[in-house]
Amino acid sequence: MSPEIVLAILNIVLAGIFGAIVGSFTNVCIYRIPEHRTIVKGHSMCMTCGHELGALDLVPIFSWLFLGGKCRYCKTPISSRYIKIESLTALAYMIMAASHLALFLDPMDPSKNVFPFIELCALFIMINIVIVEMMIMKDTGSSMYVMTVALGIDYLVQVLAKVLNVATGNSSDSLSSLFRSISIRFFGGAIIGLLAVILSVLLVRGGRSVHSYFQDKDQKALRTSDLFAIALCAAIGLIPAIVAATVYLIARLLIKNSNSIKYLGTVLAAGAALGYYAYAFYQLAI
Ligand SMILES: [Zn+2]
Repeated sequence: MSPEIVLAILNIVLAGIFGAIVGSFTNVCIYRIPEHRTIVKGHSMCMTCGHELGALDLVPIFSWLFLGGKCRYCKTPISSRYIKIESLTALAYMIMAASHLALFLDPMDPSKNVFPFIELCALFIMINIVIVEMMIMKDTGSSMYVMTVALGIDYLVQVLAKVLNVATGNSSDSLSSLFRSISIRFFGGAIIGLLAVILSVLLVRGGRSVHSYFQDKDQKALRTSDLFAIALCAAIGLIPAIVAATVYLIARLLIKNSNSIKYLGTVLAAGAALGYYAYAFYQLAI
């Protein structure tokens, strides 16, 4: 095997381990935030017998497997949610690392990698916001606002990392070509998201006016999810946005009851991930 391949595999495995650890922390957030408990201190304990958990009980993924999904002390079954979220985060991080391999291929010059790495970290954080959102808030109107703002901040961090990369001479792009590609990506994605929203409103509401859609108090949560859809499409860019917008449109047409927006954000996020990763792999392949 060539050193590049060894290095690529090593980086993907490390991203997976990092993802499992972050997934474990994500579980703590999902469990403690709704109870208004701190997420930064305090020991983890068994929810049935209250026994404090040791280091061996807290190894992401493996502890659950080796203990057969049971508490070491009282043998009460532990929810499979823990291992599911840890492995989901690990898998997402591995795919993310695999689609950003160029970032790791110049280990002799780490200065070149600092800003692309910040960009990758912003994507990592976004994944976990989506997971926490779908587990705790279940796509309520207010959580869609939180996600839209988080997405905006995430996008700004990515743009800033790109600009700094050009400004410090680590990228051969010029600033003007960078801004051109950023605006095509942003506005292209936003327009595709907007089209999906307009189409879904027209198709779902049939002859009724679009005007009443914006007046209706009951539709507030749904409108917030529209905002999230547009923001998400803008953030992931032109081509992946086509997949995300199509998934959103289909979900809106299938879920006729407008009050039932539960998991709409999750479906949209899954569509966005599909488009994003498929496009990243397509670029790797050509
Ligand atoms: Zn126990």
